[in-house]
Amino acid sequence: MADVNLRGVKKQFGALSVIKGVDLDVKDGEFCVFVGPSGCGKSTLLRMIAGLEEITSGALSIGGKDMTSVGPSERGVAMVFQSYALYPHMTVAENIGFGLKMTGHDKALIAERTAMAAKMLQLEPLLLRKPGQLSGGQRQRVAIGRAIVRNPEVFLFDEPLSNLDAALRVQMRSELSKLHQDLKATMIYVTHDQVEAMTMADNIVVLSAGRIEQVGSPLELYHRPNNLFVAGFIGSPK
Ligand code: ADP
Ligand code: MG
Repeated sequence: MADVNLRGVKKQFGALSVIKGVDLDVKDGEFCVFVGPSGCGKSTLLRMIAGLEEITSGALSIGGKDMTSVGPSERGVAMVFQSYALYPHMTVAENIGFGLKMTGHDKALIAERTAMAAKMLQLEPLLLRKPGQLSGGQRQRVAIGRAIVRNPEVFLFDEPLSNLDAALRVQMRSELSKLHQDLKATMIYVTHDQVEAMTMADNIVVLSAGRIEQVGSPLELYHRPNNLFVAGFIGSPK
């Protein structure tokens, strides 16, 4: 079980208060989407869940376990970034397996997990290519493959599709929804794209200036926004 629970979570960068007290419960297996204007703290919140950024105060637990002194690699989470920085000199297969290799997993396990991820992401014919020989969408799939092989209970996505063109975004959206169904993992997904939020989310978290304005299903937010700010962020329901 990999619920993600935040209680009174705050983040300061020096004098700058970026996250101002967030309480949030993401259920095991939920697809939760964070939306909000640029600079409101979406990435910071995600990075704190990943363990890439320390929490200034408050509590975070994953799967019921307090994460205060748990390092990023022991949290059972994997993050997929917007700029997916693949290693240009390595093949697709090597890129996908690299994290596992670094953490000392044996070759057989790496090969098995890489094959599974490649199948899931339709990368099988491309495993021996280098990133320079891939399209943007294929590169983003490799980045997702890197996360899948780690077998995480929680996936964290930070605007993973924002570098892709509109048609590819639509395709990747349904691929990610399918992936969510197949893996049954908890997914927390940051986007500034309302359509992505409305079509992919079980629950949407609307953030503004380091606080949660509202949490609810796409339909709840559409029909009963708490305020004009939330209404402004919500497009049409699925
Ligand atoms: P979002 O992802 O919603 O666009 P971020 O979480 O990246 O927002 O940033 C929230 C705020 O925190 C911004 O004002 C940003 O400049 C600031 N910030 C983020 N990271 C740092 C950092 N390492 N040091 C100082 N300020 C930061
Ligand atoms: Mg961001």
